[in-house]
Amino acid sequence: MGRAGRSRRFCKIFRNSKSLRKLHVKSYGCQMNVYDSHRMIDLLTRNSYAEIAAPEDADLIILNTCHIREKAAEKVYSELGRIRMLKRKAALGGHKLIVAVAGCVAQAEGEEILRRAPVVDIVIGPQNYHRLPALLAQVESGAKVVDTEFPVEDKFDHLAPATAMAIRARGVTAFVTVQEGCDKFCTFCVVPYTRGAEVSRPVAKIVAEVEGLARAGVREITLIGQNVNAYHGEAENGRPATLGHLLFSLAGAPGVLRLRYTTSHPRDMDDNLIAAHRDLAALMPQLHLPVQSGSDRILAAMNRRHTRAEYLDLIARLRIARPDMAFTSDFIVGFPGETEEDFADTLRIVDEVGYAGAFSFKYSPRPGTPAADRDDQVADEVKTERLARLQDCIDRHHSAFNRNCAGQSFEVLFEKPGRLPGQVVGRSPYLQPVQVMGPSSLIGEIATVRITGVGSNSLFGALRSVEVQEADDQEPALTGTGG
Ligand code: SF4
Repeated sequence: MGRAGRSRRFCKIFRNSKSLRKLHVKSYGCQMNVYDSHRMIDLLTRNSYAEIAAPEDADLIILNTCHIREKAAEKVYSELGRIRMLKRKAALGGHKLIVAVAGCVAQAEGEEILRRAPVVDIVIGPQNYHRLPALLAQVESGAKVVDTEFPVEDKFDHLAPATAMAIRARGVTAFVTVQEGCDKFCTFCVVPYTRGAEVSRPVAKIVAEVEGLARAGVREITLIGQNVNAYHGEAENGRPATLGHLLFSLAGAPGVLRLRYTTSHPRDMDDNLIAAHRDLAALMPQLHLPVQSGSDRILAAMNRRHTRAEYLDLIARLRIARPDMAFTSDFIVGFPGETEEDFADTLRIVDEVGYAGAFSFKYSPRPGTPAADRDDQVADEVKTERLARLQDCIDRHHSAFNRNCAGQSFEVLFEKPGRLPGQVVGRSPYLQPVQVMGPSSLIGEIATVRITGVGSNSLFGALRSVEVQEADDQEPALTGTGG
């Protein structure tokens, strides 16, 4: 071996043995992807990687992709075009940049990604992240790998828990995946194809993860799943547990001050879950409950398996259980066959529920889904016009909800310093950012705030009491009976 070769080899050995390799993860889409990205980072930081914020100096770049939005795959390919330049630069500098595509686009596209983007070394589906170290070893020895099979083993049994330091760096709120996949097969949605059938984690493992987060300082847990209230994990007694049961189990965890869950399907809101809203003070009075359309005809065409009346009845039952409940939703405008009359039903349901907020999108076909093949697609200019009207309607209710907060007092969980010196920012029970002047020692604590002003996206307030709730002194957060 020549001198240059020996020197390169020495550099490589030095790099592998003395220094941590640099990992950059770019996450697209929903909270489930953010959670998965954290799990990959936690796993790889135990396997001689360190996370870095920018891709330029990375040894490994992971794009954790989402397939929900329009042209999702095309956006990933154009990002890979930019990464190709980084890979070329790294090669000129004598080191190998490994590129991995993870998430739902990886699951949906598989081998096609390697064909269209030779810059990629690893294509890995959402159920296979625990195999990343083994796949990286294969790539180090020159292979390219695609791993999108749904495995028989549970990835959560193999993914490393976050260190206390990593948890603290991520703040006082955390997501915990309790359920993955979906069996509903709404006719517009790719999730059942990319994430597979519904799978739920056992109660004991979730409780252990939540207790670990709380010990490291997390005070608010959001349970997440593609269809989270279809949760059916194994309880401690070996029998199936519902999401309601799980919430009752978690409400007593020391240090956990707040619980939330998302995203729910109206069909899976059972009595036990409604009882949890009635009985658990820790369960926040805000629920994201997508309805998608207010028209029975369109709901049937979407295969949503509930009617408008059933949805409204559910909202009423939840309001009886918890009168201060606020609702948010998702809407799809211009689903194939949607008439002006159907759309008027959607506007009416927004007025009837009085949503605190909602996400709304124009329908766009997802290849492979039943609705994509329908020949009664709505013209784009009609969708655009309807979306603008729907968003006006949603904005009106959102502003009214926020205006109504003025003069009220809320318990606010403080999360971080504000932009102004001496300011801290927290969240109301309804997830609104609340800015107050107060000491940074409030971060991680709940304090009562009187709302004195309302901005377009934030509330402003004054601390009403300096008596903060000490997390360690919390009793199980129950206000009644249930479980
Ligand atoms: S319930 Fe949600 S995740 Fe499941 S198919 Fe319908 S829209 Fe997709």
